[in-house]
Amino acid sequence: MFDEILDVDGFAWTGQDWIRGSFGSPPLGGGWMVREWSLPERHLHFAGDFTSLKTGRVEGAIESGLRGARQIEPDAAPVG
Ligand SMILES: Cc1cc2nc3c(=O)[nH]c(=O)nc-3n(C[C@H](O)[C@H](O)[C@H](O)COP(=O)(O)OP(=O)(O)OC[C@H]3O[C@@H](n4cnc5c(N)ncnc54)[C@H](O)[C@@H]3O)c2cc1C
Repeated sequence: MFDEILDVDGFAWTGQDWIRGSFGSPPLGGGWMVREWSLPERHLHFAGDFTSLKTGRVEGAIESGLRGARQIEPDAAPVG
């Protein structure tokens, strides 16, 4: 697997004048918020890391996208 990595690069978030901060997350005991945020509102569906229990991680963002797609189309599957 590691021989598939062609290049890597580093990025210092703290050195970015316009960012400086970090990712957010619900407060301790706020799992219910995540469940609420992942519920559709009529025809509106929500995705994003904050609608998953893996808030603040790309993995959560991807999972939430799949979950949102399956709320619309239960048989939705990743492409590729
Ligand atoms: C400093 C920092 C370090 C991080 N480090 C890591 C790490 O090492 N590993 C890791 O897995 N995750 C890390 N994360 C978290 C990761 O970046 C997020 O979990 C991920 O980017 C969330 O993806 P998302 O698609 O949910 O939201 P985002 O990537 O935030 O995408 C939301 C998009 O919606 C756009 N948008 C917002 N409002 C509107 C609007 N009204 N109309 C149109 N577009 C709009 C925004 O411009 C943005 O492009 C880090 C985050 C930060 C801030």
